[in-house]
Amino acid sequence: MRILLTNDDGINAPGMAVLEAIAARLSDDVTVCAPAEENSGAGHSLTLHMPVRLREHGGRRYSVTGTPTDSVNLGLSKLFAGGKPDLIISGINNGENLADDVTYSGTISAAMEGALAGIPAIALSQATRDRGHGFAAAEAWAEKVLRPLLDMQMAKRTVINVNFPALPAEEVRGIRVTRQGFHDYSRGSVVEGVDPRGRPYYWFGLEDVEHTLDHGTDLEAVNDGYISITPLQLDLTHHAAIGALAERFA
Ligand code: MN
Repeated sequence: MRILLTNDDGINAPGMAVLEAIAARLSDDVTVCAPAEENSGAGHSLTLHMPVRLREHGGRRYSVTGTPTDSVNLGLSKLFAGGKPDLIISGINNGENLADDVTYSGTISAAMEGALAGIPAIALSQATRDRGHGFAAAEAWAEKVLRPLLDMQMAKRTVINVNFPALPAEEVRGIRVTRQGFHDYSRGSVVEGVDPRGRPYYWFGLEDVEHTLDHGTDLEAVNDGYISITPLQLDLTHHAAIGALAERFA
């Protein structure tokens, strides 16, 4: 099985090393193609206004001077010219990707790029919440999560979004298949400062948000100490609204 690994935290991120160790237990044909620098929050962006470079680091490891989406794109066209990989795994993200995070997430967008190319794609994220457990839950549980998915026929244009709770491995309560939740509206903080030339700047911060934990959601599962597995689809159409909208324009 040929596996392509990517992420949005950059090729040198600790979560990539964890993911490489896990992937090595699943296959001996693993390629890494990830952004050279951290790209968290890059979403599904493509670099269109400047060239990008593909750098070889040895041992089938490559970095791209661009976004997670660039990395998957370039990896597929330059490193897999002879045929697509069988699986793309994106992560392991340093931090959760739950609820509306999925639209900001470079981790999930990289997996989406794989799904668009017709490749089964899984995004892995480790909730951290500064609790000091690092990637322990993901390290201990990722193989249990991934093995049942390997021979599964995934629907086209879908991504499996996996989040590990911020717990020591032995305190993880199990695995729940969930639906996407929604954050109570909050955009975190905006810090204002003045640069060395006297001009104001703004810096977005992210904080934990208190949530209304709807039953069956990814937010609830991770909050309850479970690993959350959510199937996401790229079709963002709100199908139920098509009828009412069409009537307005009839
Ligand atoms: Mn990230």
